[in-house]
Amino acid sequence: MVEPKWTLLVHGGAGSMVRGKLSPEQDAGARAGLGHALNAGSEVLANSGSAMDAVSAAVIKLEDDAHFNAGHGAVFTFDGIIELDASIMEGAMRRAGAVTGVRHTRNPVLLARAVMEHSPHVMLSREGADAFSREQGIEQVHPGYFATPERWRQLEELKANKLDYFDIDMKYGTVGAVAVDGDGNVAAATSTGGLTGKRWGRIGDSPIIGAGNYADNRAAAVSATGAGEYFIRIGVAHEICARIRMLDENAEAAANHVIAELGELGGTGGVIVAAPDGSAIFSFNTPGMYRGRATHGGDQYIAIYGDE
Ligand code: ASP
Repeated sequence: MVEPKWTLLVHGGAGSMVRGKLSPEQDAGARAGLGHALNAGSEVLANSGSAMDAVSAAVIKLEDDAHFNAGHGAVFTFDGIIELDASIMEGAMRRAGAVTGVRHTRNPVLLARAVMEHSPHVMLSREGADAFSREQGIEQVHPGYFATPERWRQLEELKANKLDYFDIDMKYGTVGAVAVDGDGNVAAATSTGGLTGKRWGRIGDSPIIGAGNYADNRAAAVSATGAGEYFIRIGVAHEICARIRMLDENAEAAANHVIAELGELGGTGGVIVAAPDGSAIFSFNTPGMYRGRATHGGDQYIAIYGDE
């Protein structure tokens, strides 16, 4: 059997990672986590699976990994609880699903997918989303499952130093995956705990279709990470796809343009973009971004720092 042509990109958040700042354990652990996510998604794509199945499989691995701010290891709200957001989209029919503020679903990306596949809606929130999750028979966990001592320490540090919510050290770790499968279909998935110390039911860009996540076969699949409010104001993920579709820009030019615009408004962060023509783009204006790429034929790349 000839292996289909496919592309998979993953991210584990953008932030101020520079050499020497992460401990060797954090560095190696994050790289291993990105590798597991790439392997899970690659296996799907190499066996002629769909981009949708591949991004789901990759994001589940990242949600289960405490190195990243999604699922197990997500950040705490100001009130000391964990509220998870996720979204997913496929590029053929532009079907999408998203959840925000969920507290009991082990893998929020699976719940976002269930919203897309088994409800007439695109976005569900909080207790309602958790109730839908139970009805769908999706794995439930005690909220304590998501908590880690390191994230609790970060919340205490934020409160003690009255740090800005957008301090980039306080939020990196959102995860995402984008893929193009052998049929040329694209898909994108994004999952996060949001910002450390978020209050008042704050929702970022990750579960907002068009802001933190978008997929359109005519353009690309995009997953974002960064200061969510800026990504919402620009509609980053959709804007990148719109530029590709309407201005005929390639994925790299479109992504770089929109990330530059984000920077001009004061926003920090980045995107991963996979397009049906095989483009596989990372674009970010932070010192580092946890990121990885795999393509048909076995090529795999994993990086953290900007100069890798
Ligand atoms: N974009 C996420 C949010 O604002 C956070 C992040 O990507 O680090 O909720």
